[in-house]
Amino acid sequence: MSLMENDVIIIGAGYAGSVAARQFAQANKKVLLIEKRNHIGGNAYDYLDENGVMRHQYGPHIFHTNHSEVYEYLSRFTDWHPYRHSVLGLVQDKFVPIPFNLRSIEMCFDNDEARHIIDVLTNKYAIGCKVTILELQEDEDPTIKKLAEFIFENVFKYYTMKQWNLNVEQLDPKVISRVPVSITYDNYYFTNTYQAIPLNGYTKMFEKILDHKNIKVLLNTDCKEHLKIKDKKIYFDNEEYKGIVVYTGILDELFDYSLGALSYRSLDFEYKTVEGDYQDSATVNYPTPKQRHPFTRISEYKKFMANPPIDKSTIAIEYPYDYDPKAIKGNIPYYPVFTDESKNKYNEYLKLLNEIDNLYALGRLAEYKYYDMDAITLRAMEFVKEIING
Ligand code: UDP
Repeated sequence: MSLMENDVIIIGAGYAGSVAARQFAQANKKVLLIEKRNHIGGNAYDYLDENGVMRHQYGPHIFHTNHSEVYEYLSRFTDWHPYRHSVLGLVQDKFVPIPFNLRSIEMCFDNDEARHIIDVLTNKYAIGCKVTILELQEDEDPTIKKLAEFIFENVFKYYTMKQWNLNVEQLDPKVISRVPVSITYDNYYFTNTYQAIPLNGYTKMFEKILDHKNIKVLLNTDCKEHLKIKDKKIYFDNEEYKGIVVYTGILDELFDYSLGALSYRSLDFEYKTVEGDYQDSATVNYPTPKQRHPFTRISEYKKFMANPPIDKSTIAIEYPYDYDPKAIKGNIPYYPVFTDESKNKYNEYLKLLNEIDNLYALGRLAEYKYYDMDAITLRAMEFVKEIING
């Protein structure tokens, strides 16, 4: 088969690439999906490990959305386990609910002080609402200001330093605003309408997404060995390709690092088998200094499952790293790093990409955006619609 027979070539089989592939295929386009790794699903890839635990190989993935169209779309490819995520964080040697909420306040302060803080907070904010730490820090009320300092110090400061190797002030405020302070006693991490985990795993869902007569998947194939860009044209195996190319990887690699490296953060997981159960929630955060706990969080994957094994458990201890493609640990890009400098460099790469008429960037890595699973599914659906409708 010649690559030229394909209407669309997509690079990367994560959410962006796989959903786009499906949508093009349904619009009668012949799609070739090229994936460097030996599996589909991107960083949502999971598999049943030796303990009978559905292991999220690249870290915990909990699907949550308010977009009914995204939930309905993915429901064509999977049944769901209706799982609601809750997280505990080690704050002053106690495991308290994260996002920090009214119950966390009761656990961290003595009775009278907690009562006073909760009164002040609930006078100002309605029960059920969410406030970012940045908003609380700017509050003039001394009780709220003091609380904000406590939460910043004990929940955000060290976790963010470990996760990003940056101080909170250096990072785009949107990142920490993902985890607001909750004026509630509900201990749930998300408040979205739809919250669930694919019943038989994400990988099985991706298999169904890609199961279409117009889609061919090539695993273990590094696009850089086939794709060349010259004079604003794309060549596959030295032949000019005039179809659509959707690229979901990182742009510096595509352009041979001509403008220098883009910043990404990476993770590495240490796995352990334990007897019975390990912790009280699927994820426990460690927003403590690096010297005390060099990791950010521990996930116990069986707590995501509808029918978990009883006698054994697999835990994943999560260590952040700078992304470096040549490193032994930290060689997988996970998160774009949102500083002003890195966003500027990305925009320079994007200009190079936009000079090529038939080349498009899609997804968390290629668009340099902190997409959640639902957001990238929606974006990929809309992207294909725009291309098809011209
Ligand atoms: N964060 C924090 N402490 C926490 C949880 C989150 O400081 O206990 C900050 C941190 O900067 C993190 C960001 O909030 O990178 C977003 O957290 P989220 O749980 O959304 O991260 P993800 O699950 O996408 O890694």
